[in-house]
Amino acid sequence: MITARTTSAAATRELATELAAFLQAGDLLVLAGDLGTGKTTFTQGLARGLGVTETVTSPAFVLARCYEGRIPLAHLDVYRLDTLQELTDLGIAEMLDAGGVTVVEWGDVVLPALPSDFLEIKLAGPGPDDDEDHRNIDLRAVGPSWPPRVGALRTALSRWEPPC
Ligand code: ADP
Ligand code: MG
Repeated sequence: MITARTTSAAATRELATELAAFLQAGDLLVLAGDLGTGKTTFTQGLARGLGVTETVTSPAFVLARCYEGRIPLAHLDVYRLDTLQELTDLGIAEMLDAGGVTVVEWGDVVLPALPSDFLEIKLAGPGPDDDEDHRNIDLRAVGPSWPPRVGALRTALSRWEPPC
């Protein structure tokens, strides 16, 4: 597990931009964390790192948006889905097979409908003693495709390591 802490929305975007350098076609990122913790903000930084020039906005109401970049990006938010079937109907399998990067906000809620090979990014905070712009970001590899990249990723993200 990699643990990071950011102190501004810009820093969360920057961290995600750094992570984007490690992305490969077919990757799945599961974003977890309450409303307002920064899942969309994180995806904006990720998109920037993928060379997406379009503005990335929350897909909460449209459920899914696709962007052209170095690797195409599919950005989903499943908060408003009522059933796992809706995710299937939305074409999640096709998105994952399309050779892009798929980012799912609230993905932790629909894990049974997702392949068990992904990077989970859990955003939380601020805690009671933190500034309101503080966020804790935990990254965890699940399945075979991320563990070979975790060492280098940890080094790349080390400037956001929490002080203790
Ligand atoms: P979510 O998609 O998880 O609901 P958003 O990214 O839409 O969250 O909103 C996060 C809000 O919190 C934005 O208004 C953003 O500017 C603000 N914010 C403040 N500090 C941070 C931080 N460290 N990381 C991410 N967002 C932050
Ligand atoms: Mg969001």
